[in-house]
Amino acid sequence: MPECEICGRVIDRPKKILLEGVVLNACNNCSRLGKPVKSRRRKVKIKRSAPLPKIEEVKPKELVSDFSKIIREKRETMKLMQKDVALKLNLPLSLVKRSESGFRPEDSVIRKFERFYGISLFEDEE
Ligand SMILES: [Zn+2]
Repeated sequence: MPECEICGRVIDRPKKILLEGVVLNACNNCSRLGKPVKSRRRKVKIKRSAPLPKIEEVKPKELVSDFSKIIREKRETMKLMQKDVALKLNLPLSLVKRSESGFRPEDSVIRKFERFYGISLFEDEE
């Protein structure tokens, strides 16, 4: 039989109390000396890590099909030579020439053309 840890009385149902920082089994009388300790079940919270943010697939952007034609016509409209464009965009002349004859340059180069001519050269941005 459990005993009251304060007065030593044998008790059927000890009450857990908190007395001066110590949890004791106490009888009814002595339990008033401390704070009742509620026996509580520990809820084990399993922290689920947040789902990983989906990484958006970066699709290679589609150029408008007549990209080369567009930049050539734009340039001609502006009465510029290929070398002028190369100079303005800080690109090698050969790259400007190739771009106007069907070569697909890097996206960053295409962006330069877009900004320079004020047009959209990727299909999904029209
Ligand atoms: Zn007692």
